[in-house]
Amino acid sequence: MSHTGLQAIRAAFVDFAGTVADPEQMMQQFRYLPDGLLLTEGGKIISLTPWQETTVLPENCIFNDFRGQLIMPGFIDTHIHYPQTEMIAACGEQLLEWLEQYTFPVESKYGDPEYAAKMAAFFIRQLFSNGTTTALVFASVHPQSVDALFSEAEKYAMRLIAGKVMMDRHAPQSLLETPEQSAEQSRALIERWHGKGRLGYAITPRFAPTSSAELLQQAGALRNQYPDVWMQTHLSENLREVEWVRELFPQQDSYLGVYHHFGLTGKRSVFAHCIHLQDKEWDCLQQTGSAIAFCPTSNLFLGSGLFPLDRARAQHIPVGMGTDVGAGTSFSLLCTLGDAYKVQQLQNNRLNACEAFYHATLGGAHALDLHHQTGNFNAGNDADFIVIDMAATPLQALRQRNSKDIIEQLFVLMTLGDERNIAQTWVNGQCVWQQGTTEALAIP
Ligand SMILES: [Zn+2]
Repeated sequence: MSHTGLQAIRAAFVDFAGTVADPEQMMQQFRYLPDGLLLTEGGKIISLTPWQETTVLPENCIFNDFRGQLIMPGFIDTHIHYPQTEMIAACGEQLLEWLEQYTFPVESKYGDPEYAAKMAAFFIRQLFSNGTTTALVFASVHPQSVDALFSEAEKYAMRLIAGKVMMDRHAPQSLLETPEQSAEQSRALIERWHGKGRLGYAITPRFAPTSSAELLQQAGALRNQYPDVWMQTHLSENLREVEWVRELFPQQDSYLGVYHHFGLTGKRSVFAHCIHLQDKEWDCLQQTGSAIAFCPTSNLFLGSGLFPLDRARAQHIPVGMGTDVGAGTSFSLLCTLGDAYKVQQLQNNRLNACEAFYHATLGGAHALDLHHQTGNFNAGNDADFIVIDMAATPLQALRQRNSKDIIEQLFVLMTLGDERNIAQTWVNGQCVWQQGTTEALAIP
């Protein structure tokens, strides 16, 4: 089945040539090739050229004709919780009660390796069927949950970053650990998984309220010991949460100040939400080179607030998109972009389709410090991409016929689109998902 040999793919292509801080320059990086030829080999991009320049196809290549469809780099989900897959769409609460009532009871099941393995398989298939090829993922506190997830991702040579949640207070006793245990288990997982194939480890303190100072200190020490490992956590999602952090850490002058104090800011640090930040926290994100995961469906669902994308732009902070399943309401980055637009509308900010798809692809790679490996079709990058059916429903077909250019077509796609638009998902130069197959629908 393995097709890591030479592949030739003809289709329309969209991607971004390079990273940008200023959305005004976004359009200059945008590339649209209405009829192109992509060559891949060994899981990497060889070249992307206009079809007219093709005189003869290389010998021994497998030719894939996707004319009429659009190919773009696979989506990058910079914030998601795999144990929360089964409790998506839980009604009625805001963040802190939602955690207590729904999240903690479900996460306690992931100490069972067999159960974790089944759910990891379902989770990865959900990512693929929604066109997501790279993700930064929270597991549960149990190391078994991380082993299960990485084992599943490894089957596809997928680029996946994950970590076990670190948590030593304000949660049910059965989910708590000591700071020493937490660090020891995290270290063992780093040694086992980080850098194995395309897998990466993220140090994962859930958030400040479930962390003692000692736990955060251990997390900071790990960061020091393994400087190329990622760090992921939550920041300033909900006003009551922000107030709680102020009470728990009175010696720090802000929520982000707590993480910064323990050495958890910097490149490869990804903070989810960042809705209610003070000026000094924005400055700290910028000065340390930290990144933000913008999670609009989650922020709307939990009533957390509206992320000020214009502020992140003004401070040149890398922003990736996060579905934040299970507080988020969809695995689809298309649905996530659709809600991102509405969240900006509510603040009188513009989010055009060009910038939106940037954040879901190369911008997300930039937030993860992976923009030299993935996120566009530059030679040498990962052959991780999706084949998109731009008109998956009669309504979409009707509306797409009335679009004047590719930017308008992309806007219609992010407003009306979802997993039905993902015709195929390719990871490491191989097709891992095809629309119409039932495999992803298998319920564990
Ligand atoms: Zn989250």
